[in-house]
Amino acid sequence: MELVILRCLLFSIINFHGFVQASKLLLILMDGFRWDYFDFPDVSLPGFQQIFQEGVRAQYLISEFPTNSYPNFYSIMTGLYPESHGQVSNYMYDVPTGKKFLLGSNDDAMLPLWWEEAEPLWITAEKQASQNMIFMINERKNILTAISKALNIEHQIEHRRTHSKIENKRAYFYDWLGCQVTIRGTNITFCKPYTKVTYPGDLAITLNEGLHLFANNSADLVGLYLESPDAYGHRFGVVSENLKQGLRDIDDVMQAMMSNLTSMGLKEKVNVMMFSDHGMADRTSVVNLTTVIDPDDWIELLASMNIVRIWPKEDKLEKIVQDIQRANFSGVQVYRKEDLPERWHLKDHQRTPPLMVIGNKAQYLITSTRPKVHEYPTGPMVGMHGFDNTDTDMRAMFIATGPAFKKNKVAHPIYNIELYQMMCKILDITAQPHNGTWSNVKDMLDLDTSMATKRSTHDVILVMILGVTLHSMLTIFRIYF
Ligand SMILES: [Zn+2]
Repeated sequence: MELVILRCLLFSIINFHGFVQASKLLLILMDGFRWDYFDFPDVSLPGFQQIFQEGVRAQYLISEFPTNSYPNFYSIMTGLYPESHGQVSNYMYDVPTGKKFLLGSNDDAMLPLWWEEAEPLWITAEKQASQNMIFMINERKNILTAISKALNIEHQIEHRRTHSKIENKRAYFYDWLGCQVTIRGTNITFCKPYTKVTYPGDLAITLNEGLHLFANNSADLVGLYLESPDAYGHRFGVVSENLKQGLRDIDDVMQAMMSNLTSMGLKEKVNVMMFSDHGMADRTSVVNLTTVIDPDDWIELLASMNIVRIWPKEDKLEKIVQDIQRANFSGVQVYRKEDLPERWHLKDHQRTPPLMVIGNKAQYLITSTRPKVHEYPTGPMVGMHGFDNTDTDMRAMFIATGPAFKKNKVAHPIYNIELYQMMCKILDITAQPHNGTWSNVKDMLDLDTSMATKRSTHDVILVMILGVTLHSMLTIFRIYF
């Protein structure tokens, strides 16, 4: 009798792993989506409004400097400042190897060299299982060992124990810059590499695929990249009807996503975090540095919108500084690397150039290597970014919904390096060292109701107490009756 009951108990312990479920996480990166696009008076966005009501919205997200895509993509996905993760710009020159990283898709940009100084979330997830799951399984093994020893049936459960498999997280990323790169020897489960500008129609397709991966339990983490807000901003400008229509088109996708989360039974399982890398502002002026910076003075010069990065020839650094200062362009600043402001967290990296020329708000700098403003079929570039990250127009956005997040909450502004720790918490994986501070984000989360995994620990303890009680009762019963 005693043996039968204890064996039933043992069987239930062996098979109770099914209720451990860390939350699944959907990330949508919307390039160049400025913080205040939600509030354009003549743009109605009911899909986003529903997300605000059912989730959190930070007043705004503070980007890192320079307010360009790659430094900010990687700060969001590593929780590190640019000087710590190494992607200090959209345009980089690595002096030791002579390699260049150029925005767009030059093959060298996908070399691990640019990516491996930090470990992004998608790689960390692939390397780890849920921490609660590991704890649970270890606890279960301890209980099993203790009980099987007591009952002298160790040989009978050995087979089951060896099949207690801990599965790492599985990440699927679509159109995400760099998801194909092998980082620290690890690759993502699935990557659809970025090949072209992605529009709301593309997002609708990848979103549908991502939700199905959650529904059939194939994926734990899905990342989607939407480029259209940045593309419309650059091409048509911030106040253009094209950009506004682009926002309405995104909102249609959001409405469909919210209704699909419900109809597919995913609302209590999937957390959605949406964020942008930087804001946008319309170009105000063009500054011509072509005759100011002598091409004989530098080894490498990489220019983009408002920033010119210069690697001077030996002994030419001060000459270049003086030439630019003498030209006395209003709003244009030249910085030696060591003079870059601390708050930009940029100067302490070997790939930050010895000299940076930085145009003030929305000044487009042209040089001998970039002799005119970028041209689209519709005309020259209108919207720009890359300015100081304290500029209000460079602010980005962060919104989220799902079981881990509070409802209808407007949160204070946060730096984008704070998002990473939230992602790790939701996925229940151990974060890599990062620059975030938990107290800056914990108010957005509703951990009591979201962390189903917490219950698992309580359940282990409960089963142990029950087992001990039952064993004692049976012993007493046997002694006295
Ligand atoms: Zn851009």
